[in-house]
Amino acid sequence: MELSIIVPCYNEDKTLVEFHDLTTKALNKSKITYELIMVDDGSDDDTFKKLESIAKTDKNVKVISFSRNFGKESAMLAGLEHADGKYVAIMDADLQHTPEVLIGMYNKLIENDEYDVVAAYKNSREEEQPFKRTLTALFYRVNNILSDVKLLPGASDFRVFKSTVKEAIISLPEKTRFLKGIFSWVGFNTIYVPYTPQKRLYGSSKWSFIKLLKYSLGGIISFSTKPIKSVFVIGVISFLVCFINFILMGNLSHRTIILLIGILMLSIGVMSLYISRIYSNLLSRPCYIIKKTIGIDNKKNK
Ligand code: UDP
Ligand code: MG
Repeated sequence: MELSIIVPCYNEDKTLVEFHDLTTKALNKSKITYELIMVDDGSDDDTFKKLESIAKTDKNVKVISFSRNFGKESAMLAGLEHADGKYVAIMDADLQHTPEVLIGMYNKLIENDEYDVVAAYKNSREEEQPFKRTLTALFYRVNNILSDVKLLPGASDFRVFKSTVKEAIISLPEKTRFLKGIFSWVGFNTIYVPYTPQKRLYGSSKWSFIKLLKYSLGGIISFSTKPIKSVFVIGVISFLVCFINFILMGNLSHRTIILLIGILMLSIGVMSLYISRIYSNLLSRPCYIIKKTIGIDNKKNK
């Protein structure tokens, strides 16, 4: 089979029939052999029921259903671990990623053997709320200063790639996953193509402020030790400043003490981010648990 398309779905029951119609029409027109791996990430609406009835009428549709919501990263991993195609694609279920763009990316990949990954980046964020836009822009800036893996602003998980890249990605044992960073870390030849995300027609974005913040911090922690190393540097500087202050003034002012406590708490906070990361990797719990599959062998229960 030529192409495995992985589609993470969380509470997308309103969009799935239309998604399936549009995607299969476009794929059949371009005569690509494909499988659609729809991953129901523990939805609490009728997503699974919809997927079940779609899979009954279309043998190219395969379904993996989780025991609860594990998050998009886990849904994408499950899809990758069960994909059999020579090429693999990831796209959202909410029709913000169009099948036409996907097929364009696939054609680019097969026409240029030197490319391993064709990745879409958002050239417009007009459909997003200004708050999310600002936070995202800030994340890319901070990430590219702090992290060892650089990210193209607007880069998304909307990608088509060779199965060699898929193998590299699933070989990484880490439990807290940040796929955009992993793509950058594993290397390979990547070409970025711009795309304009469509407006979400049904349902709403699953990203709350807290989720975005956790995701962004996690992404930086995954690929950089700069924040924890800077705790040492900040410690040395604040010690020296206080020491000189004490020698010159004979005591420390209240303001200095409050500032020191602030620095201390912040340092503990940064360290705790790394400790919690070590803890969750040590527990080594699976990234997801599968409840049911349709048309697919439950290869792993990672
Ligand atoms: N998604 C998922 N699990 C989650 C949250 C989201 O599988 O916990 C899926 C969702 O159904 C969609 C894709 O990930 O297909 C992108 O989610 P969303 O549209 O909320 O993100 P945005 O487009 O706003 O970045
Ligand atoms: Mg979306």
